[in-house]
Amino acid sequence: MTVAGDTTTAYTIGPVTCAPGERAEGLIPVGVSSYGVELGMPVIVVNGTAPGPVLCVDGGVHGDEYDGMEAVRRVVAETDPATLRGTLVGIPCVNTPAFEAAARASGLDHANLNRIFPGDPDGSFSLRLAATFVEQVIPAVDALVDLHTGGTFGEIAPLTIVQGGYEDLATPIGLAAGHELIWKGGSWGGTARLSTLQAGKPAITIEAGGGTYREGTVDLHVGSVRNIMRRLEMIDGEVALRDHYTEVTGTFARSAAGGFFLGHAGPGDQCKAGDLLGRIVDHYGRVLEEVRAPEDGIVLWQRRIRTVRPGDEVVIFGAVRGEIRP
Ligand SMILES: [Zn+2]
Repeated sequence: MTVAGDTTTAYTIGPVTCAPGERAEGLIPVGVSSYGVELGMPVIVVNGTAPGPVLCVDGGVHGDEYDGMEAVRRVVAETDPATLRGTLVGIPCVNTPAFEAAARASGLDHANLNRIFPGDPDGSFSLRLAATFVEQVIPAVDALVDLHTGGTFGEIAPLTIVQGGYEDLATPIGLAAGHELIWKGGSWGGTARLSTLQAGKPAITIEAGGGTYREGTVDLHVGSVRNIMRRLEMIDGEVALRDHYTEVTGTFARSAAGGFFLGHAGPGDQCKAGDLLGRIVDHYGRVLEEVRAPEDGIVLWQRRIRTVRPGDEVVIFGAVRGEIRP
C-alpha cells in the first residue's frame, strides 16, 4: 500500500492540519448557504505517532443513515493518537444537507450523492460535494471505509460491498469488515467507493441495519472498523476473520403497482426459488402483486416503509455466486 501520510510530520486534509500524536477537526468547505453560513464536510483527524496508512471512515453519504455517523464519531473518540500507527480520518456526515432534511437525498438539490461521483465542481451542490471529496479527500487518504445502513426506507442484512473488478484491492479489508455476506457490487457506479478504487486505493462499503437508529448497528460498524484497523496494522490485536464468506449479487425487485407493502422474508433470511418475499396490497386488502425469490438465495434488503409507489424498491435479493475461504 502506498502511504499518503508521514506521521513524523503534520498531516493535512483540506483546511485541517494535525500534528503527530494530536487530534484536529474542521470543515472542508463546499459552498455558502443563502444565509451566509459555510457548508461542507466535517472532518475529525487522529494523527498517530508512528508510520502507517491513512484510513478514512465516512458516514452520512445518505442523510437518513444515522448508525454509521455515530459509529464514525465513536471510532475516532476511542482511537488513541499516542498508540496509533498512521492516521485516522473520520467524516461523520458527508452529506449534511441530506441529514438536515432527515432524508436519503440532499435537501438542496434532491440528488442521491451515492450515484453522482465523481461529481462536477461547476454543478449543483451535491455534484460539488462529490467533486470536493474526489479532489480533497481521496488524494489525502490510502483507504476508504464507507458506512451505510438500509436507510429509513428499509433494513439490510449486515454485509460488505466489494466492487466487482476491484477484488484484489478491496477484498483484504472487505473480509476484515467481518460480515459473512460479500456483495459483489458493480452494477451501478457513481459512488465514493468506486472513485477511490479508480484512484488505486482500497475501498469498501459496509451495510447494516436501517429502518431506524439502533445501538446494535453502531456496535457492528465500530467492530468492523476496529478489525480493519488491525488488518492495516494501525492498532494492536489479532485480526478476526471468518472461516467462510458467501459471495452474493443483488437484484432489486421493484413493484409495478403502488400500494401497501407486507414483507414475508426479512434481511438475512435464506430462501428457495419461488418463496414468497412480500406482497403489495391495496387499501381494500386485495393483493396487487407478489414478490417471489427468483432463485435460491438470501434476502439482503427489505422495505420497511409501508407506502409503495409504482416502481419503488421493495426487496433486494441476493443470489449466491460463490464462497471465499481466507
Ligand atoms: Zn446508504
